[in-house]
Amino acid sequence: PASNRAGATDARSAAWRDDRRHVLHSWSAQALIDPVVVAGAQGSWFWDEHGTRWLDFSSQLVNVNLGHQHPALVEAIRAQAATLCTIAPYHANEATARAARMIAEVAPGDLDRVFFTNGGAEAVENAVRIARQHTGRHKLLSMYRSYHGATAGAIALTGDPRRWNAEPGPPGVVRFWGPYAYRSSFHARDEAEEGERALAHLQQTLELEGPHTVAAILLESVVGGNGILVPPDGYLQGVRDLCDRHGIVLIADEVMAGFGRCGEWFAIDRWGVVPDLITFAKGVNCGYVPLGGVIVSERIAQAYQQRPFPGGLTYSGHPLACAAAVACIGVYRSEGLIERARRIGAQIIGPALAAMRERHASVGEVRGLGAFWAIELVRDRATRAPLVPFNAACAANAPMAELVAACKRGGVWPFAAGNRLHIVPPLNIDEADLRHGLAAIDEALSVADRYAVD
Ligand code: PMP
Repeated sequence: PASNRAGATDARSAAWRDDRRHVLHSWSAQALIDPVVVAGAQGSWFWDEHGTRWLDFSSQLVNVNLGHQHPALVEAIRAQAATLCTIAPYHANEATARAARMIAEVAPGDLDRVFFTNGGAEAVENAVRIARQHTGRHKLLSMYRSYHGATAGAIALTGDPRRWNAEPGPPGVVRFWGPYAYRSSFHARDEAEEGERALAHLQQTLELEGPHTVAAILLESVVGGNGILVPPDGYLQGVRDLCDRHGIVLIADEVMAGFGRCGEWFAIDRWGVVPDLITFAKGVNCGYVPLGGVIVSERIAQAYQQRPFPGGLTYSGHPLACAAAVACIGVYRSEGLIERARRIGAQIIGPALAAMRERHASVGEVRGLGAFWAIELVRDRATRAPLVPFNAACAANAPMAELVAACKRGGVWPFAAGNRLHIVPPLNIDEADLRHGLAAIDEALSVADRYAVD
């Protein structure tokens, strides 16, 4: 990093002043934030107007799996813009058709049809509508520790506190506890027991709700924003079995975990489970142009041969976004990045975090897979008392705010959420950069240790 000067905020640029005057930023009290004006980005790095650079360990909300300004994506967008920028979604065009074919090729089982949206929340909205129409039922089950988007339906399905400001939500949503062995809701002693008990809990929930009233179970194959919670082996298969037994649609929300992030095309592939619907966004094209969608099993999609598909968007299958997706999936394939994510997780990130857990009193647990990891911070490893409340806003909580500031001073831009640091770099991050960033996180953790019992 060139010059990570503390408080390099001397000259406020016109961009900063316009932003503070006119832009409403997501989820934030506007007076409490001081956004960095990003001037440029390349690969795993981005920098501000003053030339301060950060190594991007956040991938911009777990989005830029190929890093910034990947030449293949930039060129694909440029070429598509020169040919056909946009077209109504009732036309076919080469970029959209190819993107759909390539997505069907990498999706599991008979998930062969794609409805394109502009992002993750719209994907969830449409998946739910498909499931309701397919089953003729209305209830939806989702997890407490989950995030599914901020539109009316998606925020109602979200389990974390971001839904509170949108309540009361629509009727028919029922929440259940997913597996989380470190803070077991079921008093389980290990991962295997956690998986079994979480399944038994879901089964009971279904029985008490009336399985014949349930259209879909919606879950993140690996829970992302709520802590990188990797389900125990057997859990997702168990959910699949419950869905099969009761004719319920299984929706895997792979918006964050999909497209290589977990070292598989889709996180659920790790367990060989085939859902009925997959929602995706982010890594499909690294968000260079907004894109999301639902991948629909052929069995469910058959219905739409004769009856109308129950949704539509002016920008569905946007050619610029789809051209970026074609290029992006091409790069994942040609550069072997799905396998690389698995390898850097197993050989570099996992061992480095395990060593941090040995060294730092504030590190309660480290967990993850692929390029999708979390460090969960505690005040006391014996009691597992969290460093700050699980869902706390980092900026408003000194220990986390100080830790994040220390990471940034060390040249690394982290993804912090509640009492966790999520380690989610681009899948193609340079190995030396990755090790350098992990060392910076290691050093920064001593700030959190000051709040922890040794
Ligand atoms: N589902 C999951 C699992 C997500 O992580 C997110 C966003 N982080 C969404 C849905 C919503 O996606 P978007 O912000 O593109 O609407």
